[in-house]
Amino acid sequence: MRLILLGPPGSGKGTQANLLQDKFSIPKISTGDILRAAVEDDTELGKQAKKFMDKGELVPDEVVIGLIKERIVEPDCEAGFILDGFPRTIVQAEKLGETLEAMGQDIDSVLDLEVDRGELLVRLTGRRTCKNCGAMFHRTSHPPKVEEICDECGGELYQRPDDNEETIVKRLEVYSKETAPLKEFYQKQGKLKTIQGRGGMDAIFSQLCKMVS
Ligand code: ADP
Ligand code: ZN
Repeated sequence: MRLILLGPPGSGKGTQANLLQDKFSIPKISTGDILRAAVEDDTELGKQAKKFMDKGELVPDEVVIGLIKERIVEPDCEAGFILDGFPRTIVQAEKLGETLEAMGQDIDSVLDLEVDRGELLVRLTGRRTCKNCGAMFHRTSHPPKVEEICDECGGELYQRPDDNEETIVKRLEVYSKETAPLKEFYQKQGKLKTIQGRGGMDAIFSQLCKMVS
């Protein structure tokens, strides 16, 4: 099963991708996670990507396409994968399509999580992320049991540097302009499935599961 999770920053793609990964035993591939790891390790890729990420802009297409091409040929992707945060532009979607076609593969479904802007702003400004395992919490709506400590693994929680108001507004703008057109792109291929991303994460997850199985 090959899935794409589409939706604006803060729509819960990452959370749902984690749940899907556990349920279907296929890896979640998050370009955001891969890029943040490169920034943390201060690699050449990380240095290049950081400039864009800090401003809420997209990392150039060639860079992320290269990362995905390398990743989806790994043995753990044979039975499928969940793409979280990729593709984010029409060019990325086209290249992904070509790459999969050459491998004799295809995307099964594109799951689009719809959440209104006011809710996204609330979620993103209060978000806390685990440095260690990537689990996500929220200052008010989903606080950890112990302040600044991850419930899952005991890791340290932090606020992503791009989760500040100015950068969030920019990311939402970039989403509308560059990424939202992918809905029509996949709609035409008959792959788009839209889910209202409001409400609890378990309720959303069971809807997603019904849509893919
Ligand atoms: P969010 O969806 O909450 O904005 P991500 O972790 O998916 O967070 O992405 C964080 C940042 O990483 C983006 O703002 C962008 O700079 C970069 N990035 C991630 N995925 C891509 C991609 N497919 N194309 C270009 N840039 C990307
Ligand atoms: Zn953790």
